[in-house]
This record gives sequence, structure tokens and C-alpha cells, in this order.
Amino acid sequence: MTENQLIAEPIKYEPYFNPDTNQYNDKCPWKKHFRGTRKEYKCPCNSFMFITTQQFNQHIKRGVHKKWLANYDKETKEMRVQEKELRIENSKLKKQVKKYEKEIKNYIEEKKRDNLLIKLLEEKLEERVKKQEKPTTEAEQDTFYDTNESNESNEID
Ligand SMILES: [Zn+2]
Repeated sequence: MTENQLIAEPIKYEPYFNPDTNQYNDKCPWKKHFRGTRKEYKCPCNSFMFITTQQFNQHIKRGVHKKWLANYDKETKEMRVQEKELRIENSKLKKQVKKYEKEIKNYIEEKKRDNLLIKLLEEKLEERVKKQEKPTTEAEQDTFYDTNESNESNEID
């Protein structure tokens, strides 16, 4: 036996799914008359370790194990249903995301066209303003004076 085998973690025992009965059942990890090197298994129900078929057969008769197996069956089936629901939900969301991506793309394209149009209109407007603008000199510009000076002489005594 090598060092690796000595420190090897036990394998987690898992029941197998029987598609005929639609149930999880106990199944011995070793076939009848198995002659190879046995690895140790650990059952999650109560951390029971076994390495022989006899130990396994005795263990699966125990109440704690039967209860665990029934729960395992129930929980795993529920998980399968949830997984299926999640897959459906996920594909719906993916479709939605694609739809939104398309909408955003369209919106951006529209925005670009709008901006281009605005730019063109601005240029045209600027051209028109330039044409209408008459050259002005500083002298011609009106000068405004502040007429709101307070006049104290107007006060009535
Ligand atoms: Zn068990």
C-alpha cells in the first residue's frame, strides 16, 4: 500500500437514481464477488464508514439511513424541479436581454442620426446668421448707460 492510499479520503457514498421507479435507491459500491482493492466509503447520513459489502448491507437497514435516503430522494427531486425552472427562467431572461440589447442599439443609431441632423441644422442656421449679419464697427454700437442712479434731490422734505 502506498502512502497516498493510506491518507486517501473516504469516498462519499451516494445512492443511485433508478429511472424505472423514479426513485433514489441504495446500491452497493461493489459488485458481487468483487476482488479488487476496496476503497473506504463514508455515508453522509451519520458519517458511517464502510469497506465491506456486509457493513454496507447492515448500515442501509438502519432507521437513520432510511430516513436520510427518503430525504435525499425528496430534496434531490425538488432540486431537479428547481433546476428545470431556473433553466426556463434563464432562457427567458436571455431572450429579454437580447431584446433590450437590440432596443439599445436601435436607440443609439437613432440618437446618432438625430445628432447628425442637429449638427446639419446648426450649420445651416449659422450660415444664415452669417449672411444676415452686417459688419458693425465699435462706433456704431449702442452704448447703454445705467439710468438707475439714485437722485437724492428728488426726496420730499
Ligand atoms: Zn447511511
